Amino acid sequence: LRMEPCSLGLLIQSVLKLLEYRLKEYNADVSYHLNPDLPDVTVDPDRIREALINLITNACEAATDGCRIEIRESRGEDPELGPVVMLAVKDYGGGIDEELVHKVTTPFFTTKEDGSGLGLSIVERIVKEHQGKLVISSDPGKSTEFLLILPITRGVD
Ligand code: ADP
Ligand code: MG
Repeated sequence: LRMEPCSLGLLIQSVLKLLEYRLKEYNADVSYHLNPDLPDVTVDPDRIREALINLITNACEAATDGCRIEIRESRGEDPELGPVVMLAVKDYGGGIDEELVHKVTTPFFTTKEDGSGLGLSIVERIVKEHQGKLVISSDPGKSTEFLLILPITRGVD
């Protein structure tokens, strides 16, 4: 990992720029408001970008047309990790069936005809490499939210 202090907000903005064409193609309605009060986090920016690309791509694919995608950042305190920054990607593409939620990060698990099933296993690995947590919550039939919880300060590897 090439760790450096980063603004998650700027990372998100760069990913949205990178995915501009794909978001247009899916007619996605992305809501994101930069929160200027958040502290920088020490992360590998390329890896976090990769995780975000996977999550936003999945959000687009979950909804057939005009998907609404909400991206939020916030600060928090995790009982195990201490001070954290949280990054949520939520879509209204129908959610994940309850009995499938625990399987979606398994490598090669896919419900798509041409899916690789690798995106979320990569996201999970990236989060673990950052000593963070990935929390998946789904409202079946309605929405899915992926929450990346990243420690603000971390020890050296
Ligand atoms: P792939 O996108 O190639 O199928 P992923 O690892 O990215 O592989 O996702 C695995 C599976 O998790 C998907 O096939 C889908 O069933 C489910 N999934 C992932 N993201 C979402 C989402 N935003 N909404 C609904 N289901 C999702
Ligand atoms: Mg995927």
